[in-house]
Amino acid sequence: MLRTGLTGGIGAGKSTVARRLVERGAVLVDSDRIAREVVAPGTEGLAAVAGAFGERVLGADGGLDRPALAAIVFGDPDARATLDGIVHPLVRARSGELVAAAPPDAIVVQDVPLLVEGRMAPSFPLVVVVGVDAEERVRRLVASRGMAEADARARIAAQATDEDRRAAADVWLDNSGAEDATLLQVDALWDERLVPFEQNLRAGLPVPDGPPSLVGPDPGWAAAGLRLTARVDAAAGSLGRGTEHIGSTAVPGLAARDVLDLQLGVESGADAAAVAGALAAAGFPADPAADADDRAGTLRVHRSADPGRPAVVVLRVPGSPAWRHALEFRDRLRADARARDGYAERKRAGEALYDDDPDAGRYSAHTAAWRGDPSGVTES
Ligand code: ADP
Repeated sequence: MLRTGLTGGIGAGKSTVARRLVERGAVLVDSDRIAREVVAPGTEGLAAVAGAFGERVLGADGGLDRPALAAIVFGDPDARATLDGIVHPLVRARSGELVAAAPPDAIVVQDVPLLVEGRMAPSFPLVVVVGVDAEERVRRLVASRGMAEADARARIAAQATDEDRRAAADVWLDNSGAEDATLLQVDALWDERLVPFEQNLRAGLPVPDGPPSLVGPDPGWAAAGLRLTARVDAAAGSLGRGTEHIGSTAVPGLAARDVLDLQLGVESGADAAAVAGALAAAGFPADPAADADDRAGTLRVHRSADPGRPAVVVLRVPGSPAWRHALEFRDRLRADARARDGYAERKRAGEALYDDDPDAGRYSAHTAAWRGDPSGVTES
């Protein structure tokens, strides 16, 4: 199973994209719909809302009077927090039930309009954002939903900015053009990324490492590093001692293999084993080709199962020689242009020597020797 978070600003085209994903076979878990169901007549949710706000939020039919409730919470953060405190846990619980009930090979798409506002991105192995600039969204909301322009603008202003959404997006689906063009993007996403990602997760296998091929520097690496770091931290939970983006993709201006290196701190081999399942579920299964066994503090190696975002997660004991070396080397390269140039030269030489190799093993040994890396574990 793969859980995908789908979000975007109001009017961006989430429902349009979700419909296509369902046509392709996705199991949709629709937060807006669940939010209505948990306060439907006769539910505990409705009783709790009526208990908090009084009979004035109930209509003549005993159902929720949405306009009355909206008028109470609009502009009153305390009332809004009370309402969210009732509804959000119910939505979370119901969503969890629906995800758990999906078949083991499902690609679950959770349509969550406020995914970014609610800082939920790290809890999904993949986040897809549908993007259209705000002016076009206003035009569409007015034209096709008959919304008043001022209302559309007020709703957009109350949501996250596009910048925040871009930072959370593993996949940015641009829906500013014709709908057909967007549906083609959705089809490509399904075929080339979601289907193989789900198969990899079900098999518990990462995407295997490939031959060394240097690209970039890519200005998107830093943001991707933040997204994956947050995801790994969320998966490790209380056993995690912090995740750092390390390796060449963490050094601005340096060409690298398009593989993000992350370092997750864990105190012991037992803790490394205890977080392995959660890391796999978050998109990073253990690498069966890696044989790390406390080499200078490196306990385990996990690798991304997402064919669209290669990454390595090395689990290391905080403060161990391998842990310190990774951070010191990254920071030295960030600060010292000559060291950066020297390392870039070493990498290009390694690429030229070993570009016919099936994996990057000999390339990595070549660059690790230059780094003086005590773990010998690959870095990009
Ligand atoms: P959301 O679910 O993100 O609020 P919708 O999918 O309902 O957005 O789309 C908002 C409106 O814009 C709908 O009326 C939809 O038909 C229309 N729409 C979606 N994609 C496009 C597009 N590419 N071009 C024009 N209109 C679109």
